[in-house]
Amino acid sequence: MKLILLGPPGAGKGTQAKFLIEEYGIVQLSTGDILRKAIADETALGLQAKEIMARGDLVSDDVVNAIISERLDSEDCQKGFILDGFPRTLKQADSLSAMLLEKNMKLDAVIELKVDEEALVARILMRAKEAGESRADDNETVVRNRLDVYRELTEPLVAYYEAKGLLRTVNGMSDMQSVKEAIRKALQN
Ligand code: ADP
Repeated sequence: MKLILLGPPGAGKGTQAKFLIEEYGIVQLSTGDILRKAIADETALGLQAKEIMARGDLVSDDVVNAIISERLDSEDCQKGFILDGFPRTLKQADSLSAMLLEKNMKLDAVIELKVDEEALVARILMRAKEAGESRADDNETVVRNRLDVYRELTEPLVAYYEAKGLLRTVNGMSDMQSVKEAIRKALQN
């Protein structure tokens, strides 16, 4: 199973990715996690990404494209994966299409978690509070910027994947269990 999880910050992509990993025995490729690890490890990539991420802006397409392209070649991705946080721009989506073609891989579905923005802000700020200071990109100004960035740059991917017949939209506002069920059902057709 080769999937993309699409949805604004705080939509619950991480939670649902965990469920999909268990359900289908596939791996999660989260560009956010990979970048945060690079920052923690103080690699060249981390140093480059740190300030951009702290503002809630996007790291350059070339950087994330390279990260994903390399990951897709590893053994653990061959039987399936969930892309979480990538693609985030139309340019990234086009690069992904080209990569998959070249690697002879095909997406099964794109799951869109649809959520209400105000509820999201509340959810993210709550998560930040619970996590302490661990995420510099979780204060309100930055969260609002991340949502603006999502609306402007990432939301167009909904139409992009709809046109390819891959889009499955799920209501992300219901409880975790119902979202799981909805995803399971969406992937059956
Ligand atoms: P969330 O899950 O809260 O939406 P992520 O963990 O996916 O956030 O991403 C955190 C930050 O990492 C983003 O705000 C952005 O700066 C950077 N990032 C992650 N994925 C990408 C991507 N595909 N393109 C550009 N920047 C990215």
